[in-house]
Amino acid sequence: MARADITDLFRLDDLLSPEEKAARDTVAAFVDREVLPIIGGHFRDGTFPLHLIPQLAEMGVLGASLHGHGCAGMNTVSYGLILQELERGDSGLRSFASVQGSLCMFPIHAYGSDEQKERFLPAMARGQAIGCFGLTEPDFGSNPGGMRTRARKDGDDYVLNGTKTWITNGAIADVAIVWAKTDDGGPESVRGFLVEKGMPGFSARDIPGKFSLRASITSELSFQDVRVPARNVLPGVVGLRGPLSCLNNARLGIAFAVTGAAIACFEGAREYALSRASFHGKPVAGYQLTQEKLADMLQDIVKAQLVGLRVARLKDEGKVTPVMVSLAKRNNVKSALEIARVARSIYGANGITDAYPPVRHMLNLESVFTYEGTHEVHTLVLGKAITGLDAFD
Ligand code: FAD
Repeated sequence: MARADITDLFRLDDLLSPEEKAARDTVAAFVDREVLPIIGGHFRDGTFPLHLIPQLAEMGVLGASLHGHGCAGMNTVSYGLILQELERGDSGLRSFASVQGSLCMFPIHAYGSDEQKERFLPAMARGQAIGCFGLTEPDFGSNPGGMRTRARKDGDDYVLNGTKTWITNGAIADVAIVWAKTDDGGPESVRGFLVEKGMPGFSARDIPGKFSLRASITSELSFQDVRVPARNVLPGVVGLRGPLSCLNNARLGIAFAVTGAAIACFEGAREYALSRASFHGKPVAGYQLTQEKLADMLQDIVKAQLVGLRVARLKDEGKVTPVMVSLAKRNNVKSALEIARVARSIYGANGITDAYPPVRHMLNLESVFTYEGTHEVHTLVLGKAITGLDAFD
């Protein structure tokens, strides 16, 4: 069976439109040509491949599913397929695209003023302005309602104070969407602020020591009396609904995307197992225990592909719910992580080095397991939907 046949065992290709296939194939060729040869070095050095941003923009990847303002206006399935290909390269590159499109351009598109949309979206679609999304704080991750960052009204302006952490793209961002509570302080007082690079009192520093998503920039943002003019406040949303709607949007893409890492691990492990001889010169792929590993991996890839495609189609039909997205993110990330770990074992000792991709994907997926709603939080979302009982606090 040919390689493409085995990773598309259930012929999902037949369910895709020519436009969807074209979007995927363009990004797949880019990943093969531009990403795979260099990404291991970036992971090792802890650097993000900034030089790829213009090419991502050229392919319409940045804000791909948004309409107007220079965005590509693709459907959710195309967006998911694009992200899946980027993730096959590296989760760091995919995280860059997810944050730029779903967490930064989406809220400007959905909740911004016309002036904000024109000021930021075309430049962001062209990759000439980079965005980040600041919700998590040092003491509030899974529970953003507790956030301490405050925006005090002062005339027409707001004065921002606080710290955000674990912010993807933070140190390279031209604009940060920062979620902060206004004077009254309750979760319903949360507003979104467009904090621009260079505003006095705003600084960003990289978080050192990551073993995961090393080819991605992750930063801490600090706000000390940052004066944000009224024209930089998102007018269209108040309360936690704002950031949570962005996360729901991003999560769906992630649920689709992670299968790309799983496929990279599966294909690599299959190839390695066929070429690596063990006792009597027989390839390790010829032993039943290896075949069971490969069978389990393929089975989980097929299930994750079906979940990803279905949830994306439901989004395009306007029928998706947050519970569906929680199930998709929870299932697909856990499967991909397990596949990466098992693939790593098939490589034996070689599997712990960066000469082969599984350990890089495995380490990256540990972050994906935690961000965009932890695995445990999505479990509670499902638990509540199943039982009607809230187990969050
Ligand atoms: P905690 O909330 O402290 O949780 C610790 C553990 O306790 C977890 O296992 C969690 O599941 C569990 N837990 C917490 N509450 C409960 C509960 N009620 N019941 C059961 N278990 C519970 N954030 C942003 O705002 N913007 C970004 O761009 C961004 N990028 C990131 C990039 C990376 C590489 C990483 C690792 C994180 C990023 N994050 C970002 C932060 C991410 O969203 C948070 O790490 C995540 O929400 C979890 O928060 P926490 O780390 O504070 O864990």
